[in-house]
Amino acid sequence: MSSIFTKIISGEIPAYKVAEDDQFLAFLDINPNAKGHTLCIPKKEVNKIFDMEEDNYLELMKFSRKVAQAIERTVPCKRIGMAVVGLEVPHVHVHLIPLQDMEDMRFVRKTTLSEIEFDALAKAIQKNM
Ligand code: AMP
Repeated sequence: MSSIFTKIISGEIPAYKVAEDDQFLAFLDINPNAKGHTLCIPKKEVNKIFDMEEDNYLELMKFSRKVAQAIERTVPCKRIGMAVVGLEVPHVHVHLIPLQDMEDMRFVRKTTLSEIEFDALAKAIQKNM
């Protein structure tokens, strides 16, 4: 069965996209740790990040770096944190999280945004790519 993220890639499920190329997609996390929390995924569905082909893994890091720089230009924060978990969705994704403090990396304190706020934020990050 396709992962929920493969359904986002195919357009079956909507997402607030911030960047895309032929191999990767970045979109806002729907239940963000902090405003600007973004996920970068490979379009080829792989469960665990360290099972990726080395070239694809390095390309994903390159893509994530570009997205992180755009987020940092858009969202006031001390820096962008990066995490890979994958316990909820078995499709590789790199979490990019604008940080104010260590709590932002704990996946416990969540923030809520309206649809309008998500949409405006995604567009603002897109512009800074
Ligand atoms: P994990 O697999 O534990 O790294 O976490 C999966 C992440 O995906 C969580 O932060 C969820 O909020 C996020 N997520 C799950 N479904 C969606 C979706 N449809 N759109 C955006 N983010 C999602």
